Amino acid sequence: MDYASLIRDIPDYPKKGIIFKDITNLWKDHAALKESAGEIAEQFKDADIKKVIGAESRGFITGALVAVELNAGFVPVRKPGKLPWDSISESYELEYGTDSLEMHKDAIDSGENVLIVDDLIATGGTISAVIKLCERLGSNIIGAACIIELGFLNPRDKIKVPVYSLLRY
Ligand code: AMP
Repeated sequence: MDYASLIRDIPDYPKKGIIFKDITNLWKDHAALKESAGEIAEQFKDADIKKVIGAESRGFITGALVAVELNAGFVPVRKPGKLPWDSISESYELEYGTDSLEMHKDAIDSGENVLIVDDLIATGGTISAVIKLCERLGSNIIGAACIIELGFLNPRDKIKVPVYSLLRY
């Protein structure tokens, strides 16, 4: 599928100099929504993934779809103060700003195979923070996957697990 034709570029959003890749235009296409998640799942179908980990908020959408395809559970990683139970926290840098992310302490069992999924990987800061959270819970990280990778920001230099992306700029 020609995913690139469904991604809308929005210059100078949310701030000057950023070209925002609007994936909502891909998600509103039912075939692209299904196939993009299906293609990611296909890549990891023999990896015995027990949990897919997705970061707030667009990581929830692709992540949950991939989890269903892989017959795996889904674990949400959320912005500070949003999770109701005991959580662990990691701070990270974005292409535009800094923040921290949290995960429930009992979200992953030690030794479980996990796949981290996001809609887009830019600098790799978000995925790296999620990797740290998963490591702290003793999980076995099989890889990280996304629909769009901004390769020109060299995220693979930062992310220490294998990365799979459908579209690379
Ligand atoms: P990063 O931590 O730099 O890899 O940023 C990844 C997160 O920020 C993803 O969850 C994206 O949703 C969002 N993001 C960063 N840069 C962009 C961009 N140029 N277009 C759309 N989303 C972006």
